Amino acid sequence: MIRVGVAGAAGRMGIAVCAAVDAAPDMQLRGRADPALGVELAAVLADCDVVVDFTQPDVALGNARACVAAGVHVVIGTTGFDLAELEGLSGANVFVAPNFAIGAVLMMDFAARAARHMAAAEIIELHHDRKLDAPSGTAARTAQLMAAASGRPAPPIHSVRLPGLVAHQEVILGDLGQTLTIRHDSLERESFMPGVLLAVRRVGSLERSPLVGLEHLLFDA
Ligand code: NAP
Repeated sequence: MIRVGVAGAAGRMGIAVCAAVDAAPDMQLRGRADPALGVELAAVLADCDVVVDFTQPDVALGNARACVAAGVHVVIGTTGFDLAELEGLSGANVFVAPNFAIGAVLMMDFAARAARHMAAAEIIELHHDRKLDAPSGTAARTAQLMAAASGRPAPPIHSVRLPGLVAHQEVILGDLGQTLTIRHDSLERESFMPGVLLAVRRVGSLERSPLVGLEHLLFDA
């Protein structure tokens, strides 16, 4: 049994993660940390093998440091902070994914491949109006992967924030007389849960840390 704690347990993603961990046959939900619950992360660390963090950009890094210092592996879904700050953390493993939905991982992969063959691209990311960061971590990661694949500067990103949306992204590529649009929609937060549970199962045995991107767990041999 993997003993799991959730940081941000009272948030939109945290609630979904707690339910998914609770329902997983090989996991035990051992701690819910969140200011709204009056429980600090430090209070749950001693009872956990892995912490899943879906909090806020300004607290995720401190939480990750606290986890590895306590020898607890951490799976980070929080976006909007500088991932370079995770380099060099030791004591336990760190896994980060800007998007845990399989469709979004495929969308990023297809976009990077298409960027090699078409002249230009722009990214439109659309999220619910309570999202704190812009551009989204998914859009920033997509732009980074497209730039690396094409050898050109990262494509521009446009951010839309509206009630009613969950998490959506379009990559539009243009060339002579044609466009190609690659679109992904997360319609429910449950879309992220298989990826989160996969990361919880694998974070303890990573060969390198920090590791960024669900594609490494899905596609790497
Ligand atoms: P949310 O509803 O605002 O939830 C964040 C929760 O974290 C809140 O309950 C907040 O409490 C709590 N929190 C704040 N400081 C904390 C701390 N020090 N320790 C523990 N909990 C703390 O946000 P959300 O929509 O769930 O999104 C959370 C993050 O996940 C965002 O960065 C978002 O971009 C990201 N996200 C990632 C993915 C992915 O696939 N990687 C998918 C969706 C969302 P208070 O409100 O009381 O401060």
